[in-house]
Amino acid sequence: MDANERCEALTSLYEDTPDAVVLYDRSGTVIGANDAARHLTGYEIGEMLGSSYRLHVAPRDRELVELAFQSALAGATDHFDTSVRHKDGSIVPVECYVFPARIGDRLVGVFAQARDIVALRSAESSLSLNQERFRSLFEYHPDGIMELKADGTMSRVNVGLESETGFYGEQLVGKSWTELIAPEHRADADELLRSAMRGEAVEHDSLLLDRLGNRIDVQLKLVPLRAGDSVRGAYAIFKNASAQKNAERKIATRSEQIRRLYMVAASRGESLDAQIDATLALGVELFGWDEGYIVHFASDRLVVRNTVGSGVLRKDSTYPIEATFARFVLEPGKDQLFIADADRPEWRGDSARAIGPWRSYFIVAVDVGGERYGALVFASRSPHHDELDSSERDMLQLMGLFAASAIERASQSERIEQMAFNDALTGLPNRLLFSDRIENTLATARRYERGFAVMYLDIDKFKHINDKYGHAVGDETLRRVAQRLRATTRESDTVSRFGGDEFVILQPIVDGPSDAADLARKLNVAMQEPVVIEGVAHAVQLSAGIALYPSDAQTIEGLMEAADRALYRAKREGRNRWCFADAELARRELRRRPVSRREAAE
Ligand code: GH3
Ligand code: MG
Repeated sequence: MDANERCEALTSLYEDTPDAVVLYDRSGTVIGANDAARHLTGYEIGEMLGSSYRLHVAPRDRELVELAFQSALAGATDHFDTSVRHKDGSIVPVECYVFPARIGDRLVGVFAQARDIVALRSAESSLSLNQERFRSLFEYHPDGIMELKADGTMSRVNVGLESETGFYGEQLVGKSWTELIAPEHRADADELLRSAMRGEAVEHDSLLLDRLGNRIDVQLKLVPLRAGDSVRGAYAIFKNASAQKNAERKIATRSEQIRRLYMVAASRGESLDAQIDATLALGVELFGWDEGYIVHFASDRLVVRNTVGSGVLRKDSTYPIEATFARFVLEPGKDQLFIADADRPEWRGDSARAIGPWRSYFIVAVDVGGERYGALVFASRSPHHDELDSSERDMLQLMGLFAASAIERASQSERIEQMAFNDALTGLPNRLLFSDRIENTLATARRYERGFAVMYLDIDKFKHINDKYGHAVGDETLRRVAQRLRATTRESDTVSRFGGDEFVILQPIVDGPSDAADLARKLNVAMQEPVVIEGVAHAVQLSAGIALYPSDAQTIEGLMEAADRALYRAKREGRNRWCFADAELARRELRRRPVSRREAAE
């Protein structure tokens, strides 16, 4: 760079600097000014040239400037705050440098360089305001914040962090931040800091340790702390997530509980009662009750249907409903009752406390087929300290619904079973159930070498009743006959209807023809009394055919055929009588009574 170029470069500095620069001659007259000076004073360069410095100085500062001017002409440099009088009359405070202008050894004049301090101050003050704002944001932010150095040591922590952890800032500063992170999250935390140091803002779920070592669920966020273009550290922000985590955990437990309840309800392999018991057991386990019951309201009594737990109440035991707490779910609009402590004054006098040794109860109404069937009852010997929250109540309510649906299905399958195995008109076992019974009887008889009897019965001249009085009277007659047969026989006998006016009785234990003949005689006597329907007496008589195991046949088919043949003979011989399949044998056995089966077989 030669002298000319150097000169040009310096001139461009003079032209382009943001500060106002003015050159005065030794008398204080302006001989040069840059563009910034024009801005600062409001005068055009042409107006300024030839004017005195006094023109630009506020009157109150003239003395000061005069002095600085003189000292500059003496070769000194001065720096002071003063003010410029703008062309529009306003006063502009400036920071001012005054220094000599030399050419060679000669002091030819004075340079004044001025900078608007208001603009400068406002920039400065807005910076410090921002810093202030930032400081208070850091200090009083509700989340815990650490300022971290690149190596992870804490350089500053805020009040939020102090109150969250119980540490004072001075106990933490200088330590590694991961000391406050649960060990299993430290590696993750280190990784987060490395990412932040690369300039990324990152976050992660973590666990903050407090002074006592308690673990606090937090959402941890790391934000790079920049200085110019480089990252010199990071802010670690800990948002307390305990409430949210607790809520999440609660939801997770609740859905696990519901899942288990559904598993119970879906366990089709189990009997319905086993499902109900499993539902009760789940309630006992999940909510810490001692016992669980399903009770059924039967008019004014309460019947214990299912029991689970230490079980003070026995299955099938009954209690007056009025003497139980379950009576409350019979009140209109009430389907739950929670008693946290039966020792509290409002319950102390209640008669229901006499039923068992319990202190707390939860009772949910169970409705089946739109009717209040009974209740699901949980009870504990100790008081229940916590209120049940709504989700617990819902869960218990759900258990009530499951129990209700199992009870409903159980009664349906009872009905289906009834339909499958019983005669619709008389309610007696049908042919199917009879087959099952006779198979069992045969097996037992073979095993214990015992006898049994099959008696085929048919009403005499039944068509006559149908024809004369109508089918409905015929049906009623059949029902009455069924009742008489049932009433005349033993509990262990099976009285079945095979259809039409045919009934078959299975006598499972007989010692010989006389036992069977005794029953036949009893039936004959029972039918002597006419059947009275709507004031009309109907004489109903029966004919019967009897087959004996093992003497008449050793198979079911053989016995049924033998009995049927004997019945046919009874009809043929004049009706209103019974016949043995083997008439000869029967007569002989009757003469020799009492006789044992063994003797008969000889
Ligand atoms: P018998 O002495 O020979 O037995 O004469 P009976 O008139 O009883 O003749 P049978 O036993 O052969 O006929 C039974 C009749 O019972 C035939 C049918 O009209 C009638 N019957 C069959 N099932 C029913 C029923 O469910 N209800 C009614 N009311 N009648 C039935
Ligand atoms: Mg008949």
